Amino acid sequence: MGSIAPPPSSQKPDHYQIAIVGGGIAGLTLGLACAKLGIRYALFEARSNLAPAEGMAIALQDNGLRILDQLGVYEEIARHTVPMQRWTHYDENGGLLCETNAFGYQRHKFGYGMLGIERHKLLEIMAGELRRRRRGNDLIRLSCRVSTFQEDEDKVTVTTADGDVITADLLVGADGVRSSVRTFIDALQAGGHPSKSDEYMTTSFANVHGISYPVDGIAEGDGITVYREGTSLLIYTGKGGMVYWHVFEDLGETVGMSRGPRYYSGEAADAFCRLVAHVPVAPGVLFGDVYARRTAYIRLALETGIAETWHTARTVIIGDAAHKMVPHAALGGNQAMESVALLLNELLGSGSGSSSGRSGALAIIPLPALCERRCARTSKLRSMAEMTCRTQLSPHGEHTSATYRQLPGLTDADWLLKITMSFLGAPALEGVPLTERGRFYDESLASFQERFATQTYSNKAELVGLPTG
Ligand SMILES: Cc1cc2nc3c(=O)[nH]c(=O)nc-3n(C[C@H](O)[C@H](O)[C@H](O)COP(=O)(O)OP(=O)(O)OC[C@H]3O[C@@H](n4cnc5c(N)ncnc54)[C@H](O)[C@@H]3O)c2cc1C
Repeated sequence: MGSIAPPPSSQKPDHYQIAIVGGGIAGLTLGLACAKLGIRYALFEARSNLAPAEGMAIALQDNGLRILDQLGVYEEIARHTVPMQRWTHYDENGGLLCETNAFGYQRHKFGYGMLGIERHKLLEIMAGELRRRRRGNDLIRLSCRVSTFQEDEDKVTVTTADGDVITADLLVGADGVRSSVRTFIDALQAGGHPSKSDEYMTTSFANVHGISYPVDGIAEGDGITVYREGTSLLIYTGKGGMVYWHVFEDLGETVGMSRGPRYYSGEAADAFCRLVAHVPVAPGVLFGDVYARRTAYIRLALETGIAETWHTARTVIIGDAAHKMVPHAALGGNQAMESVALLLNELLGSGSGSSSGRSGALAIIPLPALCERRCARTSKLRSMAEMTCRTQLSPHGEHTSATYRQLPGLTDADWLLKITMSFLGAPALEGVPLTERGRFYDESLASFQERFATQTYSNKAELVGLPTG
């Protein structure tokens, strides 16, 4: 997939407009967007494969799907998923708390709607498109860990663990929650002192996340939440009724990320899942029935936090490196895509003349303003995801019971309003045409916003465009 060798000392290293460290969802989105926009990039991924057969499943939301649609991969993703329709909330004894078809309406009203897909398949589709769009002067390196960075006035120098060197106008760290680019930024900020990432990236929760073959009683398009003190369950479905599930666990303490449990499967995960085998997850279905049909599972800690510093003059972090959330509201991957869109919109935005042409050197852009905006939005969403997590794991807690008690009263309109509000202000990629679906989405959202701003509605159903009868 392209290779570089260390330049002889007299020769200048190859130069790129953007160096991307990490080929996960954030890095692949950025690579695809660079390809669309004609930006010359070098992407480095430590693993040997851009679509490793690991990572279970992921739910994609409208804000991410609109960007993926612009990048030309939505149709292929849609072929491997089914839209979510119905979400049911149960108490720990299988008592029905609330059932909503808001996700079905969301798709109908706005064009996208939540989709569940195996993560491996998503990455495979994105990586396949990246390969197809790669031009001769783009670089994609696999099995290649970037180890050191150096920033000068006019460039960033990136050195891999193998000793290869390139330079770039801008370095983007899309290297996940244990980001070395973030450590580099922290060190510059703190005059070389060690990164304090444990202070802003913490772990209070863990989960076993798995995939099971279809289970009678759980239909394609179904989602389920079971609220339970200390151990809660979240289930959604993919194509053919494949069941994607999480068993969440409150660790009972909050520790710095480096002290959280890392990765463990096998006996420990198995024993943990068996503890909740008796919990009802649908009429006539126990979690044990889902677990018995598992194809894969993994137990891992769930870090959460917002990086203290997101950028230097020519270096910026995106995705989990900058904003890490618990998975309860299906936000992290979708937010990574938003970060890519905003970064490129700023870079290529004509208003401030932020680029001196797509083939020339990228001018320095006002990273502080951009990061401040992203930090504000992602901080809010991170807190929202954590609150959702806490409510599911502690439905009778002091700070959560009010939300839990509201569940039986929530209507489809309430849920759809909540979902829609979270997409307000989400960016698409400027300079890349929207598809017909993307335009429909924008128009529907704009008309919702208009009703909301002018208060020209008599009830919530009318506001979100649902039948009012
Ligand atoms: C259990 C679970 C369920 C989730 N469910 C959802 C969901 O339903 N919806 C949703 O939107 N989000 C979900 N998320 C969050 C989502 O998975 C993440 O937000 C997203 O994957 C972040 O992507 P990323 O590219 O920023 O980081 P990562 O996926 O961590 O990718 C970083 C990449 O960088 C590479 N790398 C690291 N260091 C280097 C280096 N020095 N040199 C080269 N390469 C390097 C790594 O190998 C890796 O491939 C979930 C998360 C978890 C844990």
